[in-house]
Amino acid sequence: MAIESFNPYTGKVLRRFRTFSWTKTERILAQAARAATEWRESSFAERRRLMHRAADLLRERQNELARLMALEMGKPVTDGRAEVQKCALTCDYYADHAEEFLADEQIKTEARRSFIAYEPLGVVLAIMPWNFPFWQVIRFAAPALMAGNVGLLKHASNVPQCALALEQIFHDAGFPPATFRTLLIGSDLVEKLLQDDRVKAATLTGSELAGSKVAATAGAQIKKTVLELGGSDPFVVLADADLELAAKTAAQARMVNAGQSCIAAKRFIVHKSILKPFISQLKTHLLAMRTGDPLDEATQYGPLARPDLADELTKQVDDTVKAGAKVELFGGQKEPGTALFRPMILSNIKPGQPAYYEELFGPVALILEARDEADAVRLANDSPFGLGASVWTRDQQRGEAVARRIESGAVFVNAMVKSSPEMPFGGVKKSGYGRELSYLGIREFVNQKSIWVA
Ligand code: NAP
Repeated sequence: MAIESFNPYTGKVLRRFRTFSWTKTERILAQAARAATEWRESSFAERRRLMHRAADLLRERQNELARLMALEMGKPVTDGRAEVQKCALTCDYYADHAEEFLADEQIKTEARRSFIAYEPLGVVLAIMPWNFPFWQVIRFAAPALMAGNVGLLKHASNVPQCALALEQIFHDAGFPPATFRTLLIGSDLVEKLLQDDRVKAATLTGSELAGSKVAATAGAQIKKTVLELGGSDPFVVLADADLELAAKTAAQARMVNAGQSCIAAKRFIVHKSILKPFISQLKTHLLAMRTGDPLDEATQYGPLARPDLADELTKQVDDTVKAGAKVELFGGQKEPGTALFRPMILSNIKPGQPAYYEELFGPVALILEARDEADAVRLANDSPFGLGASVWTRDQQRGEAVARRIESGAVFVNAMVKSSPEMPFGGVKKSGYGRELSYLGIREFVNQKSIWVA
């Protein structure tokens, strides 16, 4: 079986890689397990030095890495460079803070001395998606390695060159061999890996289906998982919002990575009094965005990552329109089997249409009309997902109060949802569980050990 690196913009195959056999995969796992016993004994000073070096290499290689993303999954190079810079920042962040985040925590009890010690688990399997091929992996790898764990990466099958470039960075930064390895395997070998005692835990960023399968296998083996899954983030615009800023930000928030972001705003829940001007302004901003070759510096959004993803999105849109949605902005795919998808706006989104509950992973903005604030909150929460949300109002207190009533892992008031190293990231409901980033992220894959000295 082969893993294909395919350019969605040109429709050409870039490279083919032979997938690793189980024998080869098992050999790497054995090396990783051996590396884990040594790496856990390394000092924070040593880990810090290597992680800063990885950050430096990311910055040095940002052009070539951005080019790889443009070629393999259609991300414009300007966005690719920004992604790599954020990865570097996060490596630096954990290099600088891991020791403090994992320092022994003294707890007052009746004991002479009692404290929590944070100890690495060992080999952690990371199953990652293609949409932010570097960021999703670094978000896991930087804290995991700094905590003394070892990482095995099973990346999405359409980004093998990015996966190998990541392995190379950790290798060139001087991390001991097998501390971070890429496995070019299909999802069929994931189950076997999870059943192996040497794999201690797993993290998956991806779809609900993949998440539930991986969690079920890991659960049967009593292994910890972190799941970062889909989202259908609400973007709530209340009657007193700064309409112009909200509409402009709405376009940016929907178009992140050509709409292929778990935290892209997907459902625009707008007060009825401002519905028409909001749609009109959103349309203007979306039409102003420039598409083209992802390698071109002027391109703002590229093709979707694979033609089949565009076909799937077209079907969701068609079925939603058949079920009563109104097309406010015509766009979409030019012809089946091609990856470019122009932005669309659909209004009159109601229960019973696929788009009401499903995630639309591409540049389609859904408009839902809210009668009042309570109705807006009800609509925001009427979703199987709960990843991020954005609320727009000129009244800060009102914004915070609404934020508390929304069921999601994060709410941004008067801003679009984004991740940053300092704040925890993750979802509730079908968006998953566990947290990445911040001090909470680094404590997911550690044994939180109580030590009691009588
Ligand atoms: P996906 O199809 O679930 O793939 C994600 C990863 O899981 C890939 O490495 C894939 O490998 C693997 N995989 C798929 N089925 C598997 C199975 N049965 N067992 C083991 N591994 C399996 O998702 P995607 O299409 O790449 O990504 C889009 C989804 O990810 C969206 O729902 C999006 O919202 C979500 N996402 C969430 C976050 C977050 O932080 N919450 C971030 C980004 C994306 P193959 O490629 O080999 O199939």
